[in-house]
Amino acid sequence: MKVDQINVIGGGLAGVEAAWQAARLGVQVKLYEMRPEKQTPAHRTDKLAEIVCSNSLKSDEPGTTSYLLKEELRQGGSLVMAAAAETRVPAGAALAVDREKFAELITERIENEPRIRLVREEVTGIPENKITIIATGPLSSDALTAEIMKLTGSDQMYFYDAIAPIVSADSIDTSVAFRAARYDKGGDDYLNCPFDEEQYARFYSELLEAKSVPLQRFEETRWFEACLPIEELARRGVDTLRFGPMKPVGLRDPKTGREPYAAVQLRQENLMADAYSLVGFQNHLRYGEQARVLRLIPGLQHAEFLQFGQIHRNTYICSPRVLQATMQMRDRPNVFFAGQITGVEGYVESVAMGWLAGVNAARLASGSELLEAPARSATGALAHYVSHADAKNFQPVNITFALLPPLPEPAKRNVRKKRERRQLQVELALKEWAEWLEQNHTKLEAAQAG
Ligand SMILES: Cc1cc2nc3c(=O)[nH]c(=O)nc-3n(C[C@H](O)[C@H](O)[C@H](O)COP(=O)(O)OP(=O)(O)OC[C@H]3O[C@@H](n4cnc5c(N)ncnc54)[C@H](O)[C@@H]3O)c2cc1C
Repeated sequence: MKVDQINVIGGGLAGVEAAWQAARLGVQVKLYEMRPEKQTPAHRTDKLAEIVCSNSLKSDEPGTTSYLLKEELRQGGSLVMAAAAETRVPAGAALAVDREKFAELITERIENEPRIRLVREEVTGIPENKITIIATGPLSSDALTAEIMKLTGSDQMYFYDAIAPIVSADSIDTSVAFRAARYDKGGDDYLNCPFDEEQYARFYSELLEAKSVPLQRFEETRWFEACLPIEELARRGVDTLRFGPMKPVGLRDPKTGREPYAAVQLRQENLMADAYSLVGFQNHLRYGEQARVLRLIPGLQHAEFLQFGQIHRNTYICSPRVLQATMQMRDRPNVFFAGQITGVEGYVESVAMGWLAGVNAARLASGSELLEAPARSATGALAHYVSHADAKNFQPVNITFALLPPLPEPAKRNVRKKRERRQLQVELALKEWAEWLEQNHTKLEAAQAG
């Protein structure tokens, strides 16, 4: 197959990365984005790569899988990672961005890339004979979702995530909330709201009593374990929150000189530092109830809410039934999927699947052999997971060490400490990744020249 143009549907995190990579490899791209003509329940702007919830792209600390994935993308010439570096805001060891500047920068780069044509319209059908990447995300429009269901031949699976609330900085009582990072790691970019035992007990019982937004359109609620709403965590036991998003470990309140009984962390949302989000406080309580209960958090008694927590849908396909590790459909090799819809979870994970789909769609268009990312790499591990996991119990995943292959034998035996073993896993992965990039980008150029 040799064609000179591909389609990418969805100008979110995965779609822009896919379009950018394909364009970099010499292919013309038509990138379809339905906003602003049609909005999703979570997006608010007409910008490409809009970040809908937390502004954090998670840890960028060497030795973590989250860093590994980012580093692979950086080495792979990722548009999204470059924009993140340019719009970074302080967040300790995490990579957080000013969401507006981030989306603006990516939109500008895409609009100015001569090989990409941006088309602002909702796509409602999947063309038969064109090379197409579907990157419409967890909130794919209804019409296209119906088409995807026909195409994949299996039922869609739904579950719910929820957005964390955001408060204005000047409404936080800083005589109560104190600046510190856990174990003083990575500066003191977080504000911490400390609870004593009595305050925690009151907050807990009010949270249990608070009214939720009813889940009407869906029969069944299946929460993603890593993104549970606080009221759901609270229902699991009185201390569950204290061991989860309200854990106080590593935080010393300068007023008492001790760790508080529990704590809520607030993370800076934008470069102006005028907004803070409540870390891990996604919930689906009614807005009035949120205001009442969250103002019981010490330091937030006068909080002004810029955004309340929300519930949202997450749509993803049963990838192990339909996808190959190239991100290509098994039955329709000219159709690729990318991003959260493939069953990865998270911003950077979505970008990585976009990167791989973009590279492979460009290779298909230019008649080159398609690539599987190295098994040891984080990108390869995610692609392997979505294409090979148990289809019956398929669940979205973040990148973790559990997905990476173990160290080869001599290293496994010789390195005893877990931390050092992990460090080595990351180093090996990056070495393989760099070699693979070198080899295969050269190969594509050779194929194109031929
Ligand atoms: C509300 C919410 C909160 C989340 N919070 C976090 C978080 O805090 N941290 C995290 O790591 N991950 C979070 N995620 C998960 C995930 O990382 C993000 O959804 C991420 O944006 C996924 O990237 P994507 O490119 O797959 O989809 P998106 O970024 O959603 O991009 C899909 C794009 O496709 C467009 N589109 C949809 N249908 C059509 C169509 N038919 N035609 C044309 N265009 C279409 C949409 O308008 C959108 O721009 C959250 C998801 C949601 C929904």
